[in-house]
Amino acid sequence: MSETLLSSRNLAFELYEVLDAEGLTRRERFAEHNRETFDAAIGTARSIAEKYFAPHNRKGDENEPRYKNGQAILIPEVKPAVDAFLEAGFLNAARSFEAGGMQLPTLLSQACFAHFQAANAATTSYPFLTMGAANLIESFGSDEQKQRFLQPMIDGRFFGTMALTEPHAGSSLSDIRTRAEPASDGTYRLKGNKIFISGGDHPLSENIVHMVLAKLPDAPPGVKGISLFIVPKFLVNADGSLGARNDVLLAGLFHKMGWRGTTSTALNFGDNGECVGYLVGKPHHGLSYMFQMMNEARIGVGMGAVMLGYAGYLYSLEYARERPQGRVPDSKDPTTTPVAIIQHADVRRMLLTQKSYVEGAFDLGLYAARLFDDTTTLETEAERKQAHELLDLLTPIVKSWPSEFCLKANELAIQILGGHGYTREYPVEQYYRDNRLNPIHEGTHGIQ
Ligand SMILES: Cc1cc2nc3c(=O)[nH]c(=O)nc-3n(C[C@H](O)[C@H](O)[C@H](O)COP(=O)(O)OP(=O)(O)OC[C@H]3O[C@@H](n4cnc5c(N)ncnc54)[C@H](O)[C@@H]3O)c2cc1C
Repeated sequence: MSETLLSSRNLAFELYEVLDAEGLTRRERFAEHNRETFDAAIGTARSIAEKYFAPHNRKGDENEPRYKNGQAILIPEVKPAVDAFLEAGFLNAARSFEAGGMQLPTLLSQACFAHFQAANAATTSYPFLTMGAANLIESFGSDEQKQRFLQPMIDGRFFGTMALTEPHAGSSLSDIRTRAEPASDGTYRLKGNKIFISGGDHPLSENIVHMVLAKLPDAPPGVKGISLFIVPKFLVNADGSLGARNDVLLAGLFHKMGWRGTTSTALNFGDNGECVGYLVGKPHHGLSYMFQMMNEARIGVGMGAVMLGYAGYLYSLEYARERPQGRVPDSKDPTTTPVAIIQHADVRRMLLTQKSYVEGAFDLGLYAARLFDDTTTLETEAERKQAHELLDLLTPIVKSWPSEFCLKANELAIQILGGHGYTREYPVEQYYRDNRLNPIHEGTHGIQ
């Protein structure tokens, strides 16, 4: 059977011949792993992505989430897919064994995740956002916040979002207007409007934990006056049970060009003056905390762009092998059988261009994931710092290069399918539409 998500030969080449994934098992944190455990995780990711994610990719595109009675309704296939992902442990693939994870290197968890991104970018967004929000609370939240919000996220019961953008403040977050007033019980009351919040409402989890940027009354102007708050959809009691509905309301859904299966929400915080939020870390440090999530998200967005490019490349390659059309220049005899279009020089050019974009970008994204492992597991402080600096330098490139060039790959895939590529009977136009988001969000292209 031909491979539709990514080439396992290419993946094995990257992991074991280029990036020396097995070398990581000599480090203490990964000592219990070996090539067999890595390959087993990858095999499980591939089979869940093929069985649960890929089959509803088109259906999710054709049946956008609907707004009904203040809630977002999704097609029924999304939940079993996300549940299978959770059940197999991919939400916590890189987390330690003690915390209930698989303690895989980030390189391997990213390689596993790539299969889901190729199979269904929209459905994959829900766990992706949750992983980022959970890591943010893990790094900067108090013990009580970890107990109340992080643990249920790790358990897959609560999902997460990142809520930054406002109608008048997208790229320029220093201009956000959402306010947070201290309340007498040590919590805060938030008031403001956020737009484009991915996964801002859905029926996939018991609760949704929004990581919200807002300003305190004494905030200095600009980015140094932004604080970070946890705002749950449902309040959580001290014993962990769900409490009352918080005053954060789904105002509506956006209707997008692509990535349609992910809810893009407008959220109103504090319409009734009762939106409870919890300050994360120190006041006015919110943006620097959020940058951790955004930097992780940028590597994830870059890999998402790669995988949409990759899926288009594999589809057009298969198509080019099977589509008979015309004859090669030195054999124009009309009585001979037409050749497959892969024999035409221009089609080969377009295939090779795609291959170099997607495989090059795939390598770049996995290299960044490997560097992330270096920042946490290299032996000396100096080595870890050096890896950190290199990763910081590369992060905008890992986000933006694939967003530009793997989108070009999608365009070439459409071209190879000719008129068929332009129709909705074939998946390549959806890959293009889904991928068109990537130069826009998580910091627009020019800013990167
Ligand atoms: C599908 C989707 C999902 C999203 N998900 C989320 C989410 O989960 N959470 C969230 O908070 N936000 C989310 N966003 C919002 C996204 O991050 C913003 O759209 C993005 O930051 C750009 O902001 P803007 O749309 O207001 O564009 P603007 O900031 O108005 O920018 C418009 C254009 O102007 C240019 N520009 C602006 N400023 C500069 C500058 N300083 N230098 C150079 N060029 C510049 C760029 O070309 C840019 O494309 C999402 C958006 C979409 C479409």
